[in-house]
Amino acid sequence: MRSVLTIDLGAIAANWRALDAMTACETAAVVKADGYGLDAAKVAPALAKAGAQTFFVALAEEAIPVRKALGSGPRIFVFSGLMANDVSLCLEHDLIPLLNSPRQAEEAARAARGSREKFKVGLQIDSGMNRLGFCESDDLGAFLASDIAQGLDIQLVMSHLACADEPASEWNARQLASFRARKPVGIPASLGATGGVLLGKEYHFDLTRPGVGLYGGLPFVGAQQVVSVEVPIIQRNAVKQGEIVGYGANFVAPRDMTTVTIAAGYADGLIRAMGGKFSGFIKGQRVEAVGRVSMDLTTLDVSHIPEGAFGTGMVELLGPNQTVDKLAKAAETIGYEILTSLGSRYQRKYIGA
Ligand SMILES: *Cc1c(COP(=O)(O)O)cnc(C)c1O
Repeated sequence: MRSVLTIDLGAIAANWRALDAMTACETAAVVKADGYGLDAAKVAPALAKAGAQTFFVALAEEAIPVRKALGSGPRIFVFSGLMANDVSLCLEHDLIPLLNSPRQAEEAARAARGSREKFKVGLQIDSGMNRLGFCESDDLGAFLASDIAQGLDIQLVMSHLACADEPASEWNARQLASFRARKPVGIPASLGATGGVLLGKEYHFDLTRPGVGLYGGLPFVGAQQVVSVEVPIIQRNAVKQGEIVGYGANFVAPRDMTTVTIAAGYADGLIRAMGGKFSGFIKGQRVEAVGRVSMDLTTLDVSHIPEGAFGTGMVELLGPNQTVDKLAKAAETIGYEILTSLGSRYQRKYIGA
């Protein structure tokens, strides 16, 4: 029996609508990394049905299943812009690269010369994060004044915030000022992801680009739960005081106890650093993990659960009792990393379509 990952497409649609209702501008949807691990080909059509008309992925290759699932019509932007061989992918699948550098702009110009219609692009400018985007104002100005820009259909100018999940960070206002000063006029603009939507109107511009909030993660506190994970118990063990549990003899039983071994490990997103620091739930009752997380197995202390109270024999790891962010905390990571680490071994159930 496999562990079950249930993905509520209705909740994803509701989260998109809720974020959309917070702004007066267009709300896009970020479906990079295979829709934050939840299957972009399932997630993107649910978002389109909710009203999203613009999508973002990280790599051109990732956009192929998204385009297939959406059909023609919705715009698909590519954050990494034009890397080698991406021009043909963009033309073939009607993708819009977000140009990040003068080198990428020249690549786009070459593509534009070869095609009858203007080549569709966006521009990413760096507003302080020093990650991706045109960095030097001179470069951007020279590009916009050049023949190259004349041959392109520039649909969006965007930048990204480093600290949008920390409303008190001074970097939000600093990046906002930098973006305002540097963005060319006359091109629709976008600055905010999920955190930027929540920061307020000044950060919205013409289009927002939420990702994690759609999938139920922080910083969108009001998000509906999207993901639940239930893992079957394989075996129950009586462990005597002084005996060990798991690799490395990392856990020594302080008393006689009862444990269960469940069918999920670090290959299923239970990050190894969580070992001994997280809980699951059996019929709503908390059960603590003991010992190291293995690749396929994890052990939990069920000493306090009466025999006959194991219900379906499944342990909830994500669901009504535990959000992705709560589980993430045990590994000192973020909900994003839990979502994108869930892996391919689950039996996936999509509900609420
Ligand atoms: C991932 C990403 C987003 C979405 O961010 P969330 O925090 O998941 O809402 C938006 N813009 C860029 C450039 C990104 O890399």
